[in-house]
Amino acid sequence: MPARLATVPARLPSIDSLLRSVACQPLAERYGRDALLATLRQLLDDVREPVQLGQLDAVELTAQVLAGRAGERLANQHRSRVRRVFNLTGTVLHTNLGRALLPEEAIEAVQQAARYPLNLEFDLASGKRGDRDDLIEDLIRELTGAEAVTVVNNNAAAVLLALNSLGARKEGIISRGELIEIGGAFRIPDIMARAGVRLHEVGTTNRTHPRDYEAAIGPRSGLLMRVHTSNYSIQGFTAHVPTAELAQLAHRYGLPLLEDLGSGSLLDLTRWGLPAEPTVRQALADGADIVTFSGDKLLGGPQAGLIVGRKDLIARIKKNPLKRALRVDKLTLAALEAVLGLYRDPDRLAERLPSLRLLTRPQADILAQAERLRPLLARVLGDGWGVAALPALSMIGSGSQPVARLPSAALCLRPHVSKRLRGRQLHGLEAALRALPIPVLGRIDDDALWLDLRQLDDEAAWLAQLDLLQGVGAAR
Ligand SMILES: *Cc1c(COP(=O)(O)O)cnc(C)c1O
Repeated sequence: MPARLATVPARLPSIDSLLRSVACQPLAERYGRDALLATLRQLLDDVREPVQLGQLDAVELTAQVLAGRAGERLANQHRSRVRRVFNLTGTVLHTNLGRALLPEEAIEAVQQAARYPLNLEFDLASGKRGDRDDLIEDLIRELTGAEAVTVVNNNAAAVLLALNSLGARKEGIISRGELIEIGGAFRIPDIMARAGVRLHEVGTTNRTHPRDYEAAIGPRSGLLMRVHTSNYSIQGFTAHVPTAELAQLAHRYGLPLLEDLGSGSLLDLTRWGLPAEPTVRQALADGADIVTFSGDKLLGGPQAGLIVGRKDLIARIKKNPLKRALRVDKLTLAALEAVLGLYRDPDRLAERLPSLRLLTRPQADILAQAERLRPLLARVLGDGWGVAALPALSMIGSGSQPVARLPSAALCLRPHVSKRLRGRQLHGLEAALRALPIPVLGRIDDDALWLDLRQLDDEAAWLAQLDLLQGVGAAR
């Protein structure tokens, strides 16, 4: 064994000298002395052996060079793991990419709520303790016609809480055609079981009739449930019982009807040319006693689950100790109130609510943008790629209207290589786009990489990093 400790330290700079070096001073200031020290130690540990083996020349490892490497490591460690991305997948409300974008009004409200104390559970009129749901109750009542409301962390929580509060130890009657699974292991039968409700399924996958529900009602029944089959569609020989008829049936037997609307829009979306989606107001008017829906799907707000409906049932739901475990925080409530406020003026909603603005962007607009950007992208990708501005179809996302497509436009990137090499080229470019400072996410389809531009709002930021792609598209 050569005298490792005797030779190596003599050739590599010491920790002390590095810490004192001019090159390391900006790093100490930026990241703190402790973090810098730990990183320098690691760095020296990593180069010690290669230096000893003669693979690396210690003379080249000056303080300047080592500080540079330490700076890279520190920057990497300190970079936020929560990253902004460009969602060019064509799916607007993308569950994995954070769903709805908040309007400026909501962003401001969140900042206020984050920065200052607020009347979260404090009634300013009486000076007494208040209830956080009160902050949005009047707005929700106005917008949906509901008697009362309570808000929880997401719609999955809303369904769990409503079921447990109204149907624990009893039977929940539901059509076989509505036993849905939403992404992320949310399955109605499992949620029912966890809520302590015994599942009583009726009818068949494609057809359920009033008499199926009626035959199931008995002394053990606790509630009737309807789930909006938001993420798939059954077509052909089908029958389902409309909410109004189901509500009448439930009420005849003194049972509540719980309707899980999922995306739950507050206004008729067809006025903006979007596919029809049942509204919360309509479900309540049809007689549903409790309606649950998400805050960050078509509503366009923060992640939240809204439970609206009959006052006496909402009171029971609020008394459930689970409510305390599932309640929303002040930032969510602040954002939600601001978003709901925009719904008071439907005429301006499509300009002010980002999700609606993006969903309703005209195809001609998007195509013009694609044609404008096409030559710029073609230039950086070089001869190895065909870049075309083409019509495309976007999806609403988060399970809303799974078969509906919105006419859009995309940059379609096709590698000019043999079929055998195509997959590698495509995945290489896809990875390069993902590695950009603001990662760009598209989708691979039909041997091409598609960047759907419906959601490319911040064109300047997108263009600013285009040059970093220079050369990555070359055939390898
Ligand atoms: C999306 C959805 C849920 C779950 O809502 P989250 O807000 O994602 O928790 C539940 N039910 C239906 C019908 C849905 O579409």
